[in-house]
Amino acid sequence: MNKENLIKVWTLENEPFGKALGYPDCCIKEFCEQPPQLMKGNPTKDDKRRYKAACVNGVFSGFIPCKKHAKEITTGKLKIESLIKNREVEIPFPFA
Ligand SMILES: [Zn+2]
Repeated sequence: MNKENLIKVWTLENEPFGKALGYPDCCIKEFCEQPPQLMKGNPTKDDKRRYKAACVNGVFSGFIPCKKHAKEITTGKLKIESLIKNREVEIPFPFA
């Protein structure tokens, strides 16, 4: 599968979850542009920051914010939970 199709499939699989869980569109979009098959090699500084922002008290939350939001979270300007709105489904979330 080429890059474009990988992204398309990954988006179709994950976008509905992101929306149902109330994640912001910008974060869903960036997440969907990075299917696991394309995450090879060393993570970029932004990727590392996004992963760090996804963890709450050392626990991975499952929600990976976009670059912009990850920066705001890691610099303490924003709380990850304040990004999550209109949850339609209940799944275990460390700070829910
Ligand atoms: Zn975002």
